[in-house]
Amino acid sequence: MALERTFSIIKPDATRRNLTGAVNSYIEKAGLRIVAQKRIQLTKAQAETFYAVHKERPFFGELVEFMISEPIVVQVLEGENAVAKYREVMGATNPANAAEGTIRKDFALSVGENSAHGSDSLENAAIEIAQFFAGNEIVG
Ligand code: GDP
Ligand code: MG
Repeated sequence: MALERTFSIIKPDATRRNLTGAVNSYIEKAGLRIVAQKRIQLTKAQAETFYAVHKERPFFGELVEFMISEPIVVQVLEGENAVAKYREVMGATNPANAAEGTIRKDFALSVGENSAHGSDSLENAAIEIAQFFAGNEIVG
């Protein structure tokens, strides 16, 4: 295993319900370290760029509107095997399929409003981190 960094978003359904700290406690209990964090309001253009891979999907418009509906918290998480580990801590995309004790099982409202984003590969993690953080904002 290697020390990795992954990109995380605490989504609008969670920030709206004052769950930033609750989500962070799942992250830290799993042994991941929050090495960068800021609360921001996404623009429509930023949300469309971030989720460009899904632009042909029927839920794309709804996803973009949701992501700009409230502030979000963007983070860089560091730890052994961080990319796969955080996907595990989040649970399945649809909370109905998420394992017990995961963020999405415990907090998500629906398949769309599912509280958390985590990068799906080390390559995408680097791309996503660079979209939101300058190197000197990440302090490991
Ligand atoms: P993730 O990697 O687990 O976040 O899932 P995906 O990359 O497949 O989808 C990205 C995001 O799009 C999800 O986290 C959801 O917020 C949203 N999403 C995925 N599938 C659906 C869907 O069927 N309906 C809606 N409304 N949103 C969806
Ligand atoms: Mg994904």
